[in-house]
Amino acid sequence: MFKNFTEAQTYITEHHIRQVDLKFCDLWGAWHHVTITAREFTPGLFARGVGFDGSSVGFKSVRAGDMVLIPDLGTAFLDPFWEIPTLSFICDIYEADTREPFSRDPRGIARRAEIYLCQTGIADQSIWGPEFEFYVFSNVQFENGVNTACYRLDSIESAWKSGTGGHGHYIALHEGYHAIPPKDQLYNLRAEMVDHLEALGLPVKYHHHEVGGPGQCEIETPLMEFLPAADAALILKYVTKMTALRMGLSVTFLPKPLYGEAGNGMHFHQLLRLKGQNVFYDPDAPYHLSPIARYYIGGLLFHAPALLAFTNPTTNSYRRLVPGFEAPVNCFFSSGNRSAAIRIPKYATEPESFRFEFRPPDATCNPYLAMAAMLMAGIDGIRQQIDPSAHGFGPIDDDIFSWPPERRKSIKSLPTSLGEALQALEADHDFLLAGGVFTPDLIQDWIRRKSAEEAQVRLRPHPYEIELYYSV
Ligand code: GLU
Ligand code: MG
Ligand code: MG
Repeated sequence: MFKNFTEAQTYITEHHIRQVDLKFCDLWGAWHHVTITAREFTPGLFARGVGFDGSSVGFKSVRAGDMVLIPDLGTAFLDPFWEIPTLSFICDIYEADTREPFSRDPRGIARRAEIYLCQTGIADQSIWGPEFEFYVFSNVQFENGVNTACYRLDSIESAWKSGTGGHGHYIALHEGYHAIPPKDQLYNLRAEMVDHLEALGLPVKYHHHEVGGPGQCEIETPLMEFLPAADAALILKYVTKMTALRMGLSVTFLPKPLYGEAGNGMHFHQLLRLKGQNVFYDPDAPYHLSPIARYYIGGLLFHAPALLAFTNPTTNSYRRLVPGFEAPVNCFFSSGNRSAAIRIPKYATEPESFRFEFRPPDATCNPYLAMAAMLMAGIDGIRQQIDPSAHGFGPIDDDIFSWPPERRKSIKSLPTSLGEALQALEADHDFLLAGGVFTPDLIQDWIRRKSAEEAQVRLRPHPYEIELYYSV
């Protein structure tokens, strides 16, 4: 938003801003914040930064301790939820003593991935369009830490009919796609979310009710450059949750909050530009895919098992990647098939915006790390000329679930658990280390901590297990 300090300070004075909120992203993709008074917003802030304890937000095990935040002037927005006029900035993280960029700052990793892309000479810009799917619940109650509606299909349906879907109007299971009011009772909520997003400077393409009967929604933003797109993901998650909360509702981006209903994906549309030209587009090639685009697809699909450790980094992620819910299960590309890991939308035919979407990711990812990892996989595909067809990755435009199981087995599967994805990352991560974008210590720490998380889930008796086996 601001090009220099003076512009920001003028805005603060003219708009009677009283406080400045500094937001930063932890390793797992969640924002934290610290708030200063407008008086503290001085040129010195940009030299000194604001100190914080990195060990408390997941950055610990390399070097514990003191770090500083420096606001990125280009990210300023008026936070709509503060009663006191408050201007927000997204920050970069630096070492307190050396003032070097902190090697594990997710935004820093994203910046390094962009620099690496330029160094390869393949492109000078990567363009992204994440899609955001989420559920809205009216009555989230946890009994002994468990919300039983999440795993019992019958209880979801009855809760929805008797609860949020009032006055006889409700959306049946799987029937929510583009539903109209009065069935879609969340239109005002989404409209308000979108209004906040637009007002704070994040443009929205559209919003609608999604397939999931009990309150699944989608908001899409237009294509953006790498860092703004990743920042936008955190802004959007914050604004949607906060808007709902103020109406007594609750938003979740959990990939599979409900058994037997559509999951929440976060598909990433992507393309590369060189000197303003879309290098993925070739009007004369099959599917309009240039050789660079085909190799990028090859890289994404070849590295997909390892990549998913960053794009689908929770145990819940793998409850979504199952047949029957428009979520991908196999490593292939297609021009329309929603069970494909990569889909080339038929509506995106203009040369400047021609692209494909990588469908596995979900919003439990850290968008900076997930996007950096996808870009690195794509670049590796281009550098190694990984032809997707030579690896059996398609194109396949059939519905593969109509194929006999034996034939379907010939297509590589995506990981079916977080443990599998972490093992794949252990075996295949050199593509992430190129150009010093990801560091070996981060990869090892990610595997160690995510494996521990996976074990913590595995070790806990599951409520449905109790229901099935209690009386044995
Ligand atoms: N909800 C689906 C998913 O889990 C995607 C539906 C769509 O194609 O928009 O990926
Ligand atoms: Mg969708
Ligand atoms: Mg999509």
